[in-house]
Amino acid sequence: MTQLVVNSIYMATEGEGIHIGTPQIFVRFQGCSIGCLNCDSKETWDFDAAGLSLEQVLNEVETQAGKYPYRIKRVSITGGDPLHPKHAPQVEALAMELKKRGYYINLEAAGTRVLDSLFDSIDFISFDFKTPSTGVKTNIKLLEKVFVQYASKAQIKSVIADKKDFEFTYDTYMSLQQKHEYSLTTPWVLTPCYEPGEEFPKERFIEVINFNEAYGSPFRVIGQQHKWIHGPNKQNV
Ligand code: SF4
Repeated sequence: MTQLVVNSIYMATEGEGIHIGTPQIFVRFQGCSIGCLNCDSKETWDFDAAGLSLEQVLNEVETQAGKYPYRIKRVSITGGDPLHPKHAPQVEALAMELKKRGYYINLEAAGTRVLDSLFDSIDFISFDFKTPSTGVKTNIKLLEKVFVQYASKAQIKSVIADKKDFEFTYDTYMSLQQKHEYSLTTPWVLTPCYEPGEEFPKERFIEVINFNEAYGSPFRVIGQQHKWIHGPNKQNV
């Protein structure tokens, strides 16, 4: 079988989104061609890295998960872009095997692809909606599919750098809610942007909270606590 091109496997506490504060094993795939302008993990862009066999990745997850008296049973598959066609078959094989072993699987999806066979079989999908400051566009049909088909096991996440990002997110959300007669319930999280290398952007954070409150708080504002605690550049935390 093709090897899994993995950047790192490590235990850390989830630092963002609605599962913030939850310890888990992260399997970070190496390789992304999406090119967000404010990407904070450019070291994961290059696909040209050594691979590991599925067995090696599973062994590493099991070793790390088993190190603790209270065994960790959660895995977050992230990247890079774990749904890139170069990764997707290996990610799917990994997820299937981890599910058989009783792990709860979260997938960090970059918002450019939906893979039904994988989404159907895992526990949670964190799906990016790209804002103007990222320079990337999310296909609204894919976003809508996640809202409708995976409503109960997904969150949408948007990085907000400024008012333009907020208004673009709000307008998209409202047009989908109107289309679906205000029945969409999947949580949508706003993540105040950190520019690469930036220390805690307190003013921007307050601004994003203020935007949300001024519009009736349709979203949840959740920052990246690992960056507050460890600074913007520390890896694998
Ligand atoms: S999808 Fe993620 S890893 Fe890829 S460029 Fe965007 S932020 Fe960076």
